[in-house]
This record gives sequence, structure tokens and C-alpha cells, in this order.
Amino acid sequence: MTRQILCRSCGEARMKKPLDSEDLDRGWKIRFVYVAAQVPKGHGITMVTAGNRRFSPMADLVCDYCGAVITGQIVVAVSMWREGETFPNWEHQYGNELPPGAVAMADALTKDESSTKQKS
Ligand SMILES: [Zn+2]
Repeated sequence: MTRQILCRSCGEARMKKPLDSEDLDRGWKIRFVYVAAQVPKGHGITMVTAGNRRFSPMADLVCDYCGAVITGQIVVAVSMWREGETFPNWEHQYGNELPPGAVAMADALTKDESSTKQKS
């Protein structure tokens, strides 16, 4: 099983071609969840060098595909697993989950804001 946090543009591109036929034949399943991205507690990288573990906290979330900083944005959490496996929900650790209707509403509000700005 794999999980990724993607910026919205990478995530929505992925939604358009979720799994190829080879993956489907192998029984892969995929789930997409919109999340209002927040840095989870204890987010960072642990590096082990010569037996020493060093934890470096990371202040921001970045897209697993393109590396864009996505903290505070609407992003797409992608989960892939094989049929028969259970994949516990993990998306909430990265922020509030948003139903697609909420994402559409946020888009509409953003559009209103930018059209108001253009008029003034
Ligand atoms: Zn991206």
C-alpha cells in the first residue's frame, strides 16, 4: 500500500488516470480525498547516519510529485492498496477532509473574490 499527498493540480491530474489496466488486473484499489493541508505534529525526516538517528522537523508540507509547498492549501491525498488489504484512514492527520462539494464551494468563493478585486 502507498500513500501520497499531492498538490491539487497533480492530484486532479492523477484522478483523471487513476490506475492503468495492469494495476487493475493486479487488484489495486485507489482512493482520493481532498484535504485542507496542515502540517501534522511530528512531521519531519529521521536520518540514520552511522547508527545515529537525527530528526529534522519540516515546517511545510510539499507535494510528493512536484515538490510545491502545499501547507494551507486544498490538496489531494491518494491511497493505493491491493484488494483484500485494509488501509486505515490516515488523511485526517494532514488536515480536515473536504467533501468535493466543499471544494467546489471554496472555488466559487475564490472566484467571487477575484472578480470583486478586478472591478475595484
Ligand atoms: Zn504537485
